Amino acid sequence: MSGSDQDSYVVNLFAPTRRLTRSVAVGDVVIGGDAPIVVQSMTNTDTMDTKATADQIERLVQADCPIVRVTAPSIRDAENLAEISRELKARHIHVPLVADIHFTPNAAMVAAQHVAKVRVNPGNYADKKRFEVREYSDAEYTAELERVAERFRPLVQRCQQNGVAMRIGTNHGSLSDRIMNRFGDTPEGMVASALEFLDVCEGEGYHDVVFSMKASNTQVAIQAYRLLAARLEVRAPGEPGYPLHVGVTEAGDGEDGRIKSAIGIGSLLEDGLGDTIRVSLTEDPVKEVPVARALADRAHRRWFADGLAAELDPRPIPVSASDAPPPFSHVVRPTATLTTPGLAFGGEEPLRVEIDLGRALPYAEAVAAKVATALALQTDVAAEGLSVRVAVASEIPKLAVFRGELERLGVELPLSLRAPVELIPDVLVAAIPLPGRIVVEVEPESRPETVDAAAEEAHRRGVALEWCLRGERADLPKLAEEALRVSRASGDDHPAFSVDSGRMTHSVRVLSSALKGLGADACPIVLRHFRMEDQTDEEALLDAAIDLGAPLCDGVGDLVSLARFGDPLAAVDASYRILQGARRRTTRTEYISCPSCGRTLFDLEETTALIKSRTEHLTGLKIAVMGCIVNGPGEMADADFGYVGSGVGQVSLYVGKDVVARAVPQAEAPDRLVDLIREHGRWRDPEPSPDPDD
Ligand code: SF4
Repeated sequence: MSGSDQDSYVVNLFAPTRRLTRSVAVGDVVIGGDAPIVVQSMTNTDTMDTKATADQIERLVQADCPIVRVTAPSIRDAENLAEISRELKARHIHVPLVADIHFTPNAAMVAAQHVAKVRVNPGNYADKKRFEVREYSDAEYTAELERVAERFRPLVQRCQQNGVAMRIGTNHGSLSDRIMNRFGDTPEGMVASALEFLDVCEGEGYHDVVFSMKASNTQVAIQAYRLLAARLEVRAPGEPGYPLHVGVTEAGDGEDGRIKSAIGIGSLLEDGLGDTIRVSLTEDPVKEVPVARALADRAHRRWFADGLAAELDPRPIPVSASDAPPPFSHVVRPTATLTTPGLAFGGEEPLRVEIDLGRALPYAEAVAAKVATALALQTDVAAEGLSVRVAVASEIPKLAVFRGELERLGVELPLSLRAPVELIPDVLVAAIPLPGRIVVEVEPESRPETVDAAAEEAHRRGVALEWCLRGERADLPKLAEEALRVSRASGDDHPAFSVDSGRMTHSVRVLSSALKGLGADACPIVLRHFRMEDQTDEEALLDAAIDLGAPLCDGVGDLVSLARFGDPLAAVDASYRILQGARRRTTRTEYISCPSCGRTLFDLEETTALIKSRTEHLTGLKIAVMGCIVNGPGEMADADFGYVGSGVGQVSLYVGKDVVARAVPQAEAPDRLVDLIREHGRWRDPEPSPDPDD
């Protein structure tokens, strides 16, 4: 897309404003329009087992899930959807069902008689995936398109006749060979694949369509949804677009699954994109609902609160959309290296992790002890810096106490100090030895002479400077300009910048755009997240994943700093998981595991846990654990090794996309997988865990 399309996917680049969509009825649940975000989930029972499926749907409905998807891998399964509906009716459970279709148009035709919505995957509706490399001439490509349309049109007509909605659900890992050969497995290919199907729908005058663009790679998912929104805008400028079903596929389980989902879904909701969401976890589907509900609630609050804030503060934000990070491709913002004693970040350095202990000085001894204990328990990933805030002048004498305690306890991490601008000279005088970096908090009300004095003192003592801008988004460009002027006057062209904001995603976007407009694109950006007081641990984790993950996926950020996260060890762990979830720094094995469904051939949750226990000490590997051979190999996208159910009690093992062992008995498969990793030179033996009593 051209530079002028930079913001065509979004209502407002610098505020979370909902994209206007048309309403699509799924039974009596409305997706899109003014309707709140609809949470949905999917059963993982055998669709032919009416009771088990109805039981699970009942549990999902009780968990407040208003739409449920059920797989229909065969005509028999599709026919059994009628039985499931009858069973639900007998139990007085009223919930629209969605049939999930891959490879089986005949099953789709049957399902469209029994459900409120049908999901089709354009990558496999009328194509078999053969992983073939083949050039298509334009004539061959057009002929293929016509063949696909012929296969698809009857379903469109049936859905139209029956008042059934449809999701055109593209997956990054299951694009057709035809699309792959023309576009590669790119967001561009995903969007092209979906729009080919939309052409058929619109050709029939059928518009009850919802789209999804799922990928397990959060960056790819975000780019694909944005690109689709932009393309839909080009097709019908100014018209309400088709609603979006937003999700990250094969997100895995536990904290990683939640973090990946929050990064992908949450970033898109921040962009105002998303009318219905599904969090895909390799867990009981009922556990997906509260996570999705938390993401939806946050988006509702932000869409509403920001609308209100815009009314109260209608000042324009003086930055150009063309200076914002590119939305449809991943380009890491190139920055200068900021080298401080013990910690360098920006430039070619890996993204760094610092723990922000916040206002720790009043409790200096206790916090130092907590940090020392936490750091002793660190295993494979470690904090690379500590940060403390000096909030008022009376805390300054406590600095020496705190540092003395850290030293006594053997904590040697580089320390940065954060303080309001007017305290900076006194903090620097008292801080002996000097901190690695001084973080200067400036606000619109900060007096210019204090800003000058802070920069001069830092410069005189040779301490690296980070400007932490505190203000509304409309204030940030001016604050950045003033801070930059002062730094440049003292010979520092590349100070670091950060924002202290409750609206992190957009404030960072304003900051990075403002810096680019000021010719200061090389200034490193520190991503700071401040936990809110009344949050549960899970809410805090989801919030941090969105606030840090959204800019990280946009290529912005050189150091992350989680503040008030409670246990320092939890902050370090969450930071590295977020960096990995955003695919910006890999420190562990990544698991791409499907949520399981009626096709699944083994207990996916148990199997994933087993494989994790054998391999999670490895670094930089992607291991896929997929429930079935029909979709698994296609969906595992860029995994290095794959463990895929291929029959009852049997597993196929993959290296990349190549199957290297078939029909391996399930009991032997984890060992065979480890052997494979070893044979490919990617194995190392686990290290013994540190003993905290040592
Ligand atoms: S890969 Fe997993 S979720 Fe996808 S169809 Fe197969 S079993 Fe179902």
